[in-house]
Formats: sequence, C-alpha cells, structure tokens
Amino acid sequence: MSEVYYNYVDGDWVESETGDTFEVVNPADTTDVIGGFQRSSSDDATAAVEAAADAADEWADVPGTERGSILTEAARHMADRTDELTETLTREEGKTLTEAGAEVQRAVDIFEYYGQKAVDFGGEVKQPGSRDANLYTVEEPMGVAGLVTPWNYPVAIPAWKSAPALATGNTVVLKPANGAPNVFRKVVECLDEAGIPDGVVNYLTGPGSDVGGTIVDHDDVDVVSFTGSRSVGEMIHEQAGANQKRVQTEMGSKNTTVVMPSADLEEAAEIVGAGAFGVTGQACTGTERVAVHQDVHDEFLEELIAYADGLEIGPGLEDPDMGPHFDRDHLEGTLEYVERGRDADGTLAYGGEALEGGEYDDGHFVEPTIFTDVDSDAAIMQEEIFGPFVGVMSATDFEEAVELVNDVEFGLSTSIVTRDHAEANRFRDAVDFGIVKINEKTTGLQYYVPFGGMNASSSETFREQGDAAIDFYTITKTVYEN
Ligand code: NAD
Repeated sequence: MSEVYYNYVDGDWVESETGDTFEVVNPADTTDVIGGFQRSSSDDATAAVEAAADAADEWADVPGTERGSILTEAARHMADRTDELTETLTREEGKTLTEAGAEVQRAVDIFEYYGQKAVDFGGEVKQPGSRDANLYTVEEPMGVAGLVTPWNYPVAIPAWKSAPALATGNTVVLKPANGAPNVFRKVVECLDEAGIPDGVVNYLTGPGSDVGGTIVDHDDVDVVSFTGSRSVGEMIHEQAGANQKRVQTEMGSKNTTVVMPSADLEEAAEIVGAGAFGVTGQACTGTERVAVHQDVHDEFLEELIAYADGLEIGPGLEDPDMGPHFDRDHLEGTLEYVERGRDADGTLAYGGEALEGGEYDDGHFVEPTIFTDVDSDAAIMQEEIFGPFVGVMSATDFEEAVELVNDVEFGLSTSIVTRDHAEANRFRDAVDFGIVKINEKTTGLQYYVPFGGMNASSSETFREQGDAAIDFYTITKTVYEN
C-alpha cells in the first residue's frame, strides 16, 4: 500500500468526503508509486472556499509585517527542505534534479520576495488641493483567491500565485494539477509550520471540472488565477468573467527563436536547444519554432542536430540532460506530431522515436525531435506540442523572420540571436509577444518582473509576478479627507 495524502482545509489535513483517492506515479518509472491523493468532490471544494471566506476578514486585518514574517518563515522551512522538495518534484513531474532544484529555489525566492512586499506595498499620497485635507489611496485585498495550476511547474506556479495573494491579505483556495500535487503539498506543510492561521490557505486535489470548476464558480471567490491549457483557460475566463470576478488566465503558446547571420551559430544552437529540449520541451515558454536566415540555415541546422545528439536522456533522478515526458498521453501526442510533420512533407532531421528497453522500459521517454522544410502554417508549426520538438524554417530576411514569429495565434515568449543591437531593438518593437529575449532562450524569467502573454496565450488583463501580481490581488480605494 502506498502512502495516502490529504487535503488541507481550515488548518487541518482532511480526507475527501468521497473516501476515494487517485494514484500519482513517477513518469520515469511508472512502477514507482508516489502515493494516493484525494479524489475530492464539488462539496469538498465548497467547504474549502467557505473556510477561506470565513478567514478572509481576520487575515486582511493582520498587519503586513506579520503576514510578511509568516511568508519569510515558510521560505526558511522550504529552504531547509530543498533536497527533499527537489527530489519530490523530479519524482512526480519527471524533470531532472538540476531543473527541479532551480524551480524549488525559485519558489523559495518568491516566498521571500513577497514576504518583503507584504511590508512594502501600499497606496499613494496625492495633492489634496487644500491644506486642510488629505488625498490618498489604500490597497485592499480582493478577498478569496481561487488558484488553479498546471503540472509542468508544480511548485513555482502555485508559489507565484499564492505568495502575492497571501502577502496582500487574501485567503487562498488552491487546486494543483493531479499529476504532480505532492511538492506543493509540502510547501503547504511549510506554511502550516510557519504559523499561517486556519482557513487562510486551503489546498485540495481532484478532478479539474468538479474541484477547479467549483472554485471558479463559487460566489465567495473574488479573484481567479488560472494557468494551464488554452481550452480550459478560455472556458474559465468566460465563466469567471460572466460572474463579474477578476480573472487572469495564462495559457499555452507557440514560441519562435530567430537566428540571424551575425550570430555565433554554435551559441545559437545552444540557445535554441536549451529552449526546445530543456524540461523535455514541457514549458509554456518552450521554443517550438525557429526562423533562421537562409544564409546560415544549413550550418545552424547541423549545429542544432549536434546539440540534440549530445543530450543524455534518462530518469530525472539520475540528473541527465533531459528527463521523460510527463505521461503516456503527452508522449503519444509528440509521436503523433512526428507523423503529422511527415504528412506535411516536412523533413525529419533528427529523433522522432520513443525510447524503449533497459532503463527506458517503464517510463515515457522520447528522443529530441527536429523537423525542417515545413511551412509555417502546418499543424506542427501552429499547435502547441508541449514536447521536445522543434521545427526549423528558413527566412529570406529580418522582415520575413519577424512575420514568422508573429504568424501564430499565441504570443508568450520569443527571442532573437543577433550581434546587431539595432536589429534587436527593431525585433523587440515588432513582435506581438509578452516576453522578448535577446541572445537568450525563450524559457526562464526572473521572478520579480511581469510575466504574461499576448493574444491567445493570455487573458491580457493583469501580468503575474513582481508588482503586477500585487496589483492583481488588490483593489484600490481612493480617500479624500476634509
Ligand atoms: P490543463 O488545462 O489540463 O490543467 C490545468 C489545471 O486546470 C489543472 O489543475 C486541472 O485539473 C484544472 N482543470 C481542468 N479542467 C478544469 C475545469 N473544467 N475547470 C477548472 N479547472 C480545470 O493544463 P495542464 O496540462 O496541467 O498544463 C499544461 C498547459 O499549461 C500547457 O498548455 C502550457 O502551455 C500551459 N502553461 C502555461 C503557462 C503560462 O504561464 N502561460 C505556464 C505553464 C503552463
């Protein structure tokens, strides 16, 4: 019998009223069962929202200094458990220990950062127009924050939603993705140990539509932050918007890196390879398209193939260069795109096969895959694959490369590799993407700057991270005192 883990509601670890659980396994070895998690119901979600609503006024009244101390203390507990959290993340999500360690560190940094922000954030003082008056603003918490998160960054994303919500005096109901719920459960333990009052943080697992849907719909939830797929995000945006809730949805993308002739091509291949194959290509900011200037197309492709060929693939716990796919569906999805690439008359330049035998037998391993000679409008170049899969296109000049970057419905992260500073600036201004990188991979971003997409990648209402998150979780009151 594997371990059974509970929901955290109103300060207690509790079973679901369904009495039912679901199993979470290691993507690198599906015989390694991590544990059973609560298959919660809509009623469980309602109870969690009610606990958060009951705790909201009191938490809002706690001085920012005290809220900040609790977050900082939780960060300390997390830092003390870094190795354990890192291994937990790798075991349930599949990414390598190096990648997981970086994500855990980011979550620790986020809690520390918002611990400080809880002390610092506030309103503005303005000229009242009379010396007998005061004119100023105050920032108040929204109330209850409903947070729904994906499996691919199972500690960083719940951290970057919950920490600013808590810092600004909101209470939280969080539903992590079913595939990787354990690492943030441990963060909730850290918050509990740090003295977070009952009802302020509530965490529960279960089916997306029942649990997530109830959180999003509930009248007592004032603000909804969702990260995940486009189809679910668009539905949530509509649902929450119709109920007049403040809502933020960050969804998928299809990101291009441009390679210009002035680039060092080995360096460009490292940038593209890291963006495409890092975290097994399972990042919303991952590079799935490349637009290479025609003069250097063939040489760049050779460099990229050499990069892919040099990657060691294996179980994340052995800390190779690339871990497995997250689950069988994602692996099969990637293999289907290989077929669709062939159907679109693309040339499979590298990879394209599942890895089997030996240490690969019980996991979801796949080779890094590179296609070339594909049109921008082919399905493999338009749809988010969410795997280690990249399509390389040729561009006649800078203008065509920029057109190719923008020739998708999404708009999260893009980059250019060039030594021409003016060209980089023109690129920055011409692309419809929320994150623009120069001589850098499309993945990864500092935790204290705004993060969000354009077009189909984002609801474009509020950005996440940094001060943008403070704005999202607060409402401004303007005060005139005569
Ligand atoms: P998903 O949409 O399947 O699930 C996300 C969360 O929503 C999960 O917790 C799930 O249980 C829940 N959910 C599912 N149906 C629901 C419903 N009807 N109502 C409420 N909640 C529901 O996404 P995923 O497969 O976990 O994550 C991968 C996706 O996330 C990719 O598309 C990726 O690009 C995207 N992503 C985006 C960002 C970003 O910041 N833009 C970051 C990471 C991942």
